[in-house]
Amino acid sequence: MAIDRFSRLASIPALTICALIGTLIGGIMARPAAALTLLRDADIEHGLTELAFPILRAAGLNAARVRVLVVEDSSFNAFVVDHNTIFLHSGLIEKVGSARMLQAVIAHEAAHIANGHIARRIGNLHSARNAAGLGAVLGIIAAAAGGGQAAGGIAIGTQSAAYRTFLSHTRAEEASADRSAASFLAWSGIDPRGLLELHHAFEGQELLSLANQDPYMRSHPLTRDRIRAAEDYVAAQGDRIPPDPNHDYWFARVRGKLSAFARAPAWTLRRAPEEAHRDIRLMREAVAWHRQADRARALARIDAAIALRPEDPYYYDLKGQILMENRRWSEAAAACEKAVDLAPRDALILGGLGRAQLADGQLKAGLDTLEKARARDFRDARVLRDLALAYARDNQPGMAALLTAERYALAGQLADAGIHARRAVIRLPRGSPPWQRAQDVLSASEKHQTRN
Ligand SMILES: [Zn+2]
Repeated sequence: MAIDRFSRLASIPALTICALIGTLIGGIMARPAAALTLLRDADIEHGLTELAFPILRAAGLNAARVRVLVVEDSSFNAFVVDHNTIFLHSGLIEKVGSARMLQAVIAHEAAHIANGHIARRIGNLHSARNAAGLGAVLGIIAAAAGGGQAAGGIAIGTQSAAYRTFLSHTRAEEASADRSAASFLAWSGIDPRGLLELHHAFEGQELLSLANQDPYMRSHPLTRDRIRAAEDYVAAQGDRIPPDPNHDYWFARVRGKLSAFARAPAWTLRRAPEEAHRDIRLMREAVAWHRQADRARALARIDAAIALRPEDPYYYDLKGQILMENRRWSEAAAACEKAVDLAPRDALILGGLGRAQLADGQLKAGLDTLEKARARDFRDARVLRDLALAYARDNQPGMAALLTAERYALAGQLADAGIHARRAVIRLPRGSPPWQRAQDVLSASEKHQTRN
C-alpha cells in the first residue's frame, strides 16, 4: 500500500555520497558499499536547524549553510565529511533523551569542523601516496556540500585503507572537540551537561569488542580520561542553564515525526497522548491514521494541528502529502502551494508542490517548481526522477536524459549515468548549460571507467 511506505521521509536509493562514507566509518565497513539512505523531510530538517543554529553560530560556522541531515539507520552514530553537513543517524535521534544531548552531539561534530579536523583529513588524503580514486572521494565530499554542479564531481570511490581512516578521529581530536563543544553550548545558552550525559551513555563501551560497540564509539573514541576532562570543561562553564522551550519543542517534534513514520501506527496512537505539545500530538496521530489508510481521521488531525499553528508551512506540507497519497491531486496542490507561500525557499517543500502540480496535470508549472527545487538542492533524487518524467512528458527527451544521467551519477551508478549522458549530449543544443552538465556527467563516467 502506497501510504505504508516511508513516504515523504523518502528513501533516496543508494546515495553514493553516503554509501562511500559508510565504508569509511568503522562499523559500517563490515557491510561494504551498503547503501545508506537519507531521510529527507522538510519538517524534520527544519527542527534540526532550530536546534543547531545557535551552536553553529557559536562555532563561527556559516549557520545558514551547514545542514544537519538524517541517515536512516537505527544505530547510534553521527559524523561529518565536509564543512557543510552534519549527518545524524535516525537511531541517534531516537536514543538521546533530551534536546541538550542531541545538541551536544551537534556541538561536538561542529567542533570537528571548526577545529580543522576535516580540513586536515582532506589534506592528508591529498598527500596520500595511494591516491587512486582520491579525486572521487573529494568529488563526493564536494557533492555532499551541496554547491556547484552535482554530477561533475561525483564518482564512485574505492575502499582502500586510506579512506577507511578518513572518518575516525584521533583521541587528541576528540578531546579538542569536546572542549570546544562545551564552550559552543555554553555560549549558545544551552546546558553543556548534555555532553556528559552523552559520554555516560557510552561509558564502558570501550571495554567491549569493536563489533559490540556503537559505531559512534568507534569513530569517536571515548576514554575515562576524556570523560574526566569533559567533566572539568563542563564544570568550568558555571551554573546550570534551564532548558529552552523552543529547543524542547523542536526536539519533541523531530522525534515525534520520525517515530510516527518509523514505528507501527498502533505504537504512535498509544504513545501520542503523552506528548505535551498538542499540535505535535495531532501531527503524530495524523501520520499514524494516514498509514492506517484512514483518510478522514488523518485529515481531521492535520487540520486541527494547522488550526493551532496556521503559519506553519510543514503542517501544510504534511497535509499535501496525505492528500497526494490519497490521489486528491488538486487539493494536494493547494495545500502544497500554501506550504510554499509560507516557506518559499525550502527545496523539499518546493519538490512536494512540483509533484502535486504534475499529478494535477499542471505540467509547465510543475516543471518550473521542480527546477526551482533542484536549483536549491540537487541531492534530492526524487526531484531528479520527477523532473526526468516531466521533461519526457513535455517532449524534451534531451533534458529527460540529462536528469536521468544526473540521478544515476548521484547514486554512484556511473556506467548507467554515462549511457544517459551520451543520449543527452546528442539531443541538447551544443554549448548550452544543460549540454555542459551532460558533458560533466559523461566525463565523470569515463574517468570512472578508466580507473576501474
Ligand atoms: Zn568526535
